[in-house]
Amino acid sequence: MDAAEFRRRGKEMVDYVADYLENIEKRPVYPDLEPGYLRSLIPNEAPLEPESYEDIIKDVERVIMPGVTHWHSPYFFAYFPAASSYPAMVADMLCGAIGCIGFSWAASPACTELETVMLDWLGKMLQLPECFIAGTHGRGGGVIQGTASEATLMSLLAARCKAVRRVQAINAKKSESEILSKLVAYTSDQAHSSVERAALIGAVMMRKVPTDNHYAVRKEMLKKMVEEDKAAGLIPFYFCATLGTTPSCAFDHLTELGPLCNEENMWMHIDAAYAGSAFVCPEFRPLLNGVEFADSFNFNPHKWLLVNFDSAIVKQHWQIPLGRRFRSLKMWFVFRMYGLKGLQAHIRKQVALAKEFESLVRADKRFEICAEVVLGLVCFRLKGSNELNQELLKRITKSREIHLVPCQLSGRFVLRFAICARSTESHHIQQAWQHITQLTFELLQECQAKDF
Ligand code: PLP
Repeated sequence: MDAAEFRRRGKEMVDYVADYLENIEKRPVYPDLEPGYLRSLIPNEAPLEPESYEDIIKDVERVIMPGVTHWHSPYFFAYFPAASSYPAMVADMLCGAIGCIGFSWAASPACTELETVMLDWLGKMLQLPECFIAGTHGRGGGVIQGTASEATLMSLLAARCKAVRRVQAINAKKSESEILSKLVAYTSDQAHSSVERAALIGAVMMRKVPTDNHYAVRKEMLKKMVEEDKAAGLIPFYFCATLGTTPSCAFDHLTELGPLCNEENMWMHIDAAYAGSAFVCPEFRPLLNGVEFADSFNFNPHKWLLVNFDSAIVKQHWQIPLGRRFRSLKMWFVFRMYGLKGLQAHIRKQVALAKEFESLVRADKRFEICAEVVLGLVCFRLKGSNELNQELLKRITKSREIHLVPCQLSGRFVLRFAICARSTESHHIQQAWQHITQLTFELLQECQAKDF
């Protein structure tokens, strides 16, 4: 492909992308395939001779699209959102064109400097304390990581290093391996699996702190565990708080937990992967109170702030790879083209849609809401057995009209309805609910007939 063909194909691809996104709701949101479907559709080996672009593009509809779960369909309500916007996509093209590997300032000064400034913009949008801002000669600031999982791992490794130095400063004879075998980290029993995985990779113990009846960690539970562990000769060194847990979007109490972590010399990391974006709205910012006690903080603009994957920000400078993509470009384009007001409007609209869905569920006595709806996630279930709810979800998934995933809350099988796509509107919510109630009606009728 030379420059002339690139101009032509690039423009065609922009049209393909715009058509795909404009018409996405006509496609079934969830694929109707069995695992392994793709292997039989393409050769087992790479072609020896070059193939034509036309042949490849034909195969996108034949091979790829049938196997795509359409995350940007307005009928996609699973997991948490994957952010997407046209300014971010355009900026990603430019990132690909510049194609620098920004491992140092000299390797591409704009890549390094724009990232620092974008993280300051974000820090100010979230009203983070001054210590998280780089400014012109500050020690704060942070970097863009690929994912929240990487951010958590980085924070745990940094905390581990700090704890070893602290213990050795008091007792120089203690070996690193001896100290590492005594370190203990903590997180909520609602925390994302990536937190436990960080402890496994970091080769330290991790204990799960039980949560209250709002699925949040309170100070007393953590304090009790820390005291028990200290009495057993262990060294508590790290606590990962969650703001916006994956199952139910619960919020750990930072204002209680932060001072405890500080008193106990424990690093407090905040995983706000999904909910962090909402803190650009002043009405949701109080949920972040207590951040001043934290040592590191992460959220994913690629979840809810209209910046396409991958962009997880962490206020703390560490990363595993040497090379860095010019990811800050997409933030720069998005923040400028939406403005803070545009970003706030996006969050508020999606929270309002979640509230609309919550009202529909509450108005139907066959259902119950299972956790407080704070942001864009509604946890609900049919009053009745786990099996009944599993069957309802199975039918929803099979219909491929809307897509949801479940979670477990207090041993109960719960359906999660997350507002995800940028294009989701009120009529999609109404239609989704109509679909759920239709399937419920059929299911309950069958159950009655069979005495389920
Ligand atoms: N933490 C929380 C609270 C999450 O909800 C998720 C994913 O949804 C993650 C971490 C993992 O995110 P990532 O894919 O960016 O590692």
